[in-house]
Amino acid sequence: MQGRIKRICTSFIDVPHKIAVAIYFAGCSIRCSGCQNKELWDPMSGEAMSVDDVVKKIQQHPLAEYVVFLGGEPTDQMDFLTHVCTRITQELHLPIALYTGREFEVLPPQLVATVDLIVCGPYRQELHVGGWPASSNQRIFRKESGQWKL
Ligand code: SF4
Repeated sequence: MQGRIKRICTSFIDVPHKIAVAIYFAGCSIRCSGCQNKELWDPMSGEAMSVDDVVKKIQQHPLAEYVVFLGGEPTDQMDFLTHVCTRITQELHLPIALYTGREFEVLPPQLVATVDLIVCGPYRQELHVGGWPASSNQRIFRKESGQWKL
């Protein structure tokens, strides 16, 4: 199985107070007005990578405390995303954050089970707040002791 990935890099801002490996998925079908990442809309803009490739790239970041998926829209490549998340939880034992333009309630349980922090909902320019999250309609869910808290 392969996915299309735009870039993988260290992030100090996407998960508060944590060093994270940021994995930017290529492609977004949601296409919010005012999106700051339009260069990631084209699914062919990224490089084809296998699940193994992504896991190996994460292992090149030994100081990482978290893995964060963003884009683009990671859930446009749902099977690939779920496979990568499952490998991370089973083999690397790192917590996972996900930025998605979709709402929490439509995410499949197999994916949600592997993730610890979800920032969800489309970016709405008219509700821009200039903070975290970027627009006031977006919601942040955290898993604490196995329970999701908003
Ligand atoms: S979901 Fe994210 S990447 Fe996609 S258009 Fe909206 S803000 Fe941009």
